[in-house]
Amino acid sequence: MIVDYHMHLRDPDERVVFTVEAIERFLETATRRGIDEIGFTEHVYYFRQTAEVWDVPYLTERCVHDLDAYCEAVLQAKRVGLPVKLGLEVDYAAERQARLAELLEPYPFDYLLGSVHWLDGLAVDMEPGIWARLSVDEVWARYFAALAELTASGFVDVLAHPDLVKILGKRPADPSAHYPALDGVALEISTAGLHKRVGEIYPDPALLRGAPITLASDAHVPENVGRDFDRALALAREAGYETVTVFEGRVSRQEPLG
Ligand SMILES: [Zn+2]
Ligand SMILES: [Zn+2]
Repeated sequence: MIVDYHMHLRDPDERVVFTVEAIERFLETATRRGIDEIGFTEHVYYFRQTAEVWDVPYLTERCVHDLDAYCEAVLQAKRVGLPVKLGLEVDYAAERQARLAELLEPYPFDYLLGSVHWLDGLAVDMEPGIWARLSVDEVWARYFAALAELTASGFVDVLAHPDLVKILGKRPADPSAHYPALDGVALEISTAGLHKRVGEIYPDPALLRGAPITLASDAHVPENVGRDFDRALALAREAGYETVTVFEGRVSRQEPLG
């Protein structure tokens, strides 16, 4: 089985559109690339239902869409038998994480991705962001501390682009010295990093340590579903994986990989 469990429901011009027709465009690419099941994972800060949690302008500006409409489009696709899952990409929200969990509680997600893009209101994946404020070693330490905290909260099922902090190619002398144990979650193998400045898959295989895996393109347009998955599968196999994680109603199981 091959899944792509990280994508953002947009039209080909990257405009947000929550319809079954838009979902079908992602499935067309998936079918063409031999992917059995896809999962939608819109950013949690795109939804006005979560507005009270955010204070960074980049997030509050985008917090205008309706979470019910998003869920309903994916659930409708599920009801007609399309191989899709309902997820969300949930940003690390520090002391507001518990409140965010409460706000999302009523929704029937198949899985939640956890990601860290912001630390103290400063971006990790954009410049100047946090890089103007802290040394590379400090950014890496803060990033993985946040990722470990998000993992320990038990609030997310999968860690998205687990070593996103390498995105700009800025690395400490010994990156692996920063890697925490990440128990109780799956880690996604994401090909998105191949198209960023770093030019590498996320994560460094040393971070996997035998954790369950999913596969992810982080597509923001239908054409990018399953992009470079030959590279993701090669990395998974080299790391010894024979299964991939499949989610339904936040319960996971392992299926043969490939
Ligand atoms: Zn992300
Ligand atoms: Zn994403």
